[in-house]
Amino acid sequence: MGYLLYNGIAVTGGTISEGIIRIEGDRIKDIILTENSGNIAARILADNPGLEGIDLGKRHVFAGGIDAHVHFREPGMTHKADMASESAAAVLGGVTSFIDMPNTNPPTVTVERLLEKLETAKGRTYANYGFHLGATNGNAEEIASAIKKCPERFGGIKVFLGSSTGNMLVNDKNAIEHLFRIKEKEILVHCEDESIIRQGLEDAKEKYGEDIPFRAHSEIRSREACLDSSMRAVDLAMKYGTRLHMLHISTSTELLMLYHTKQRYPAVTVETSANYLWFTDKDYDRLGSRIKCNPSIKTEADRMILRDAFLEGTIDTIGTDHAPHTEMEKEGKYTEVPSGMPSIQQSFQVLLTLFGNTPEGLCRIASAFSEKPAEIFGISGRGSLKTGNYADIVVVDSGKEFPVTKECLAYKCGWSPYEGARLKGSIDYVFVNGRLAVREGRLIKDASPAGRELVFTA
Ligand SMILES: [Zn+2]
Repeated sequence: MGYLLYNGIAVTGGTISEGIIRIEGDRIKDIILTENSGNIAARILADNPGLEGIDLGKRHVFAGGIDAHVHFREPGMTHKADMASESAAAVLGGVTSFIDMPNTNPPTVTVERLLEKLETAKGRTYANYGFHLGATNGNAEEIASAIKKCPERFGGIKVFLGSSTGNMLVNDKNAIEHLFRIKEKEILVHCEDESIIRQGLEDAKEKYGEDIPFRAHSEIRSREACLDSSMRAVDLAMKYGTRLHMLHISTSTELLMLYHTKQRYPAVTVETSANYLWFTDKDYDRLGSRIKCNPSIKTEADRMILRDAFLEGTIDTIGTDHAPHTEMEKEGKYTEVPSGMPSIQQSFQVLLTLFGNTPEGLCRIASAFSEKPAEIFGISGRGSLKTGNYADIVVVDSGKEFPVTKECLAYKCGWSPYEGARLKGSIDYVFVNGRLAVREGRLIKDASPAGRELVFTA
């Protein structure tokens, strides 16, 4: 039993080569790099009648995406999304593993909540699942206990240095210093300075009255708010030797600072999301509340530098920051509408659209979307096309262009800010633990969800 994928082009962080991938049980049994894959595959298939051969017709093969930044809204907000619905969207988008953020209701800030969440996910997700633990001003003991009791059962520790959905702001100086002293786990930070944001909101109210336009979001949650907070986080990390993961970086100024920081202090890693690579503040007039997210979408110049930094490598990972709300919740005034947008089904395709036309771009995608997240969080047996690894595999037709329509979306909330955009890269086959989750672009619905718990060794 198993599959023989042949006539495909395997893409890794450093190589692009034609070859054959043999899947047996839940693992990659063998990878044969050859330009003669059709003939060799025919022989293997003749000798192994139990194998199903799939001719990939020179399509690209990637290790399944590992998305270390999602908000699947369960428990507590399952009218927006849940683990089953959003993990189906994930695999359709080439994401075979996700790590969910702790700002659910109740929030994942104790060992007990973490174990409950793991139990909830069991047997229900199409992609492999894992969770980050959340920090608060007062849960140091819980974090210490999780590190001691079950370090392999959570990804890292999320610290909201700026407030967002779920109100998990950590603003106590001692609590923050304590968190940055943790060495055993990755510290993930949302960096936006709260006092600058508050001042920005006051200024906007004065300028616009009660009806603040959505384009003011990037004035309120300004680039200064990002840089100020990011610089403080980096300073603390360098002081205490923290392994720091900078989430959803949105400005060129932070990237410049981080470029220099990384030369001296390589334990800092940088994430952005496809949203910041795709949208600019000009899109507020067209999309309004739909692209209201935290941090805010910035300028065209920021987007340009972000794209360069992705190719050049200052940006290590892409997290989708998939953060769904219902369409109804997204209607209303600026001050009432929640921040966040659904994106997990389109992020990989945004990357393919922007960077998939060169070998360097394809390799950077493989690195940022799978290999690097696996490395940062020490995800055992996943993240790269390697013999012996779990067979989490995505096959894409990178050049194929298509419009994003409402009908293709698997999100429970049923909408996407990318609707109407033309993206490249049809995701044709997705394997999760050696089982087909997507065939010819469609979710295999009658197959039970094959997602398993991720094991974190870092
Ligand atoms: Zn987020």
